[in-house]
Amino acid sequence: MKAGVVKPGQKDSAGLIEMDMPVISSGQALVRLLELGIDGTDIEINRGEYGEAPPDKDFIVLGHEAVGQIENPGTTKLYKDDFVVPMVRRPDECIDCQRGQLDMCLEGKYQECGIKGAHGFLREYLAEDADFLVPVPKELRNIAVLAEPTSIATKGMEQAIEFHNRSANPINIAVVLGAGPLGLLTTALLKLHNYNTYTLDIVPKSSLKAQLVESIGANYLEGNESPVVSLPDKIGNLDLIMEATGNSTVAFQAMSVLGTNGVLCLMGVSTGQKPLEINASCLNMQMVLGNKMVFGTVSSNRGHFERSVQSLTFMEQKWPGWLSRLITRRLTLDKFRDALDSTPDNIKTVIELA
Ligand code: BGC
Ligand code: ZN
Repeated sequence: MKAGVVKPGQKDSAGLIEMDMPVISSGQALVRLLELGIDGTDIEINRGEYGEAPPDKDFIVLGHEAVGQIENPGTTKLYKDDFVVPMVRRPDECIDCQRGQLDMCLEGKYQECGIKGAHGFLREYLAEDADFLVPVPKELRNIAVLAEPTSIATKGMEQAIEFHNRSANPINIAVVLGAGPLGLLTTALLKLHNYNTYTLDIVPKSSLKAQLVESIGANYLEGNESPVVSLPDKIGNLDLIMEATGNSTVAFQAMSVLGTNGVLCLMGVSTGQKPLEINASCLNMQMVLGNKMVFGTVSSNRGHFERSVQSLTFMEQKWPGWLSRLITRRLTLDKFRDALDSTPDNIKTVIELA
């Protein structure tokens, strides 16, 4: 079978290779992979800035956002032809991993398929334990590649709402920073919960991203006209901020504008170095006197995946066709390298594997 691989640590190393067909062991299913979504993490890995090959290998099969179909269930937990989304993390021995909270891993010896220490899903077949395969209804087949990024947004939003419950005041204003795939999916989740949502990006109001934000009833803010630091004056007490740009400067700006009793959720991984001068006393005082809370979130567990699949079903009912508009480019496997150059107008690239 064909697979798209990269050499972690080496810039622009992406290429196609021939690999042996996987063989299933007991408890495993054979999955025919259908589609794979490319995200910023894949681009960072191909830039040599992130990622780690499996032990004894100098390359890793890329890709962690996938949908496939069961070719051989191998276990009673799945049925032939079921559509499934594979989870990303594999646990280590720590107490969180052993309780299924592998997204909260303590030891850091977890693996992430396509990212850290385990092959990913940019290939034709996968042999996988049923525990890491999440069934999806067949109606979602063409947008199920969005289940993984939606699971990241689900974890972030659920925790942010829970933390905000410290206050008796409801979340009157929610802000999403960034209208890439993660920012758009977070916006959609917030709108499913009927929050008054503002989503900010630097692209013009006429862009597809802005249209997607407005078409589900959220407000689009154009970053040059409404910079992050202007938001409290413009829209009021920022109760919830979901940071989805992965830009560390934006993350610190968000801290400085967070409202009283506000919660800021940081979802974007930033690589490289970016020194920043801040007024630490001022920021510390505002955080203390305003009961503010900033937290980071990474990965997602099976529950987040399952609830993300449910939310995608609700989104399809509420806004038919909206999710498929996020997929702005489809490429065949032999062209996957084209997906690893960041193109500003593109939202989500999907690689067709079957
Ligand atoms: C993936 C997560 C992963 C994170 C850090 C993200 O792109 O969606 O599953 O935990 O990168 O490696
Ligand atoms: Zn762990």
